Amino acid sequence: ILEFSQVALSFGETEVLKQIDLALEPGKFYTLLGPSGSGKSTILKLISGQLHADSGQIFFEGQVINDVPAEKRRVNTVFQNYSLFPNMNVFDNVAFGPRLKKLPAGEIETKVKEMLALVKLAGYENREISELSGGQQQRVAIARALANDPEVLLLDEPLSALDYKLRKDLQQELRRIQKRLDITFVFVTHDQEEALAMSDWIFVMNDGLIQQNGTPEDIYDEPINHFVADFIGETN
Ligand code: ATP
Ligand code: MG
Repeated sequence: ILEFSQVALSFGETEVLKQIDLALEPGKFYTLLGPSGSGKSTILKLISGQLHADSGQIFFEGQVINDVPAEKRRVNTVFQNYSLFPNMNVFDNVAFGPRLKKLPAGEIETKVKEMLALVKLAGYENREISELSGGQQQRVAIARALANDPEVLLLDEPLSALDYKLRKDLQQELRRIQKRLDITFVFVTHDQEEALAMSDWIFVMNDGLIQQNGTPEDIYDEPINHFVADFIGETN
């Protein structure tokens, strides 16, 4: 569904991504795993269209999308810090995308209810964002992103701000939602345990390069170099 061919990007003198190649199949749970500054968020921004590559090609369903503006891509992002509209209730947050598309009111309502049920917040339509816990807010953010019917959902460290128990719950929830909707998820984390537990396929990044990619078993059992071995072996 998505492919990078020799994609590179620099900010000034700094090469942030160096000749990245990757190929994502539809309906899988992918994880970009790597330390801070390795280029994970930058890859997501290239996929969403927030940033544009200096060189190389990005394909979506076989078409080059380097110059396709963000709003025309069937891609949505969930960020670490919720980024909900604090002055709107839960319903209006989730309805935001469908309203932009000018769907009929009845369809919008059905969509919002379906998405809230999916993230286990049925009945929360009229709650204010400030009344929700961090975990509930993140569920609303997931519902809001999914209400746009993305083909690819990008998740940039969506669980990093949550405590351990909530994190574990939401890890399973995300996996369940991805399987249920059968869309492609690209999940970013610096937590190797989280990556190993959740993913179909992991890209281990360091210093603007993909060091290794493979199933969690491949990466755990046969790290290709010292960096991957050390990073996977770390406990944090
Ligand atoms: P983290 O885990 O901290 O979120 P990351 O892997 O997501 O890290 P990126 O945000 O992709 O890392 O950043 C990769 C590198 O690019 C970093 O060295 C960062 O400082 C640099 N960088 C990112 N955005 C910009 C920008 N707009 N201008 C200049 N440098 C940037
Ligand atoms: Mg980041």
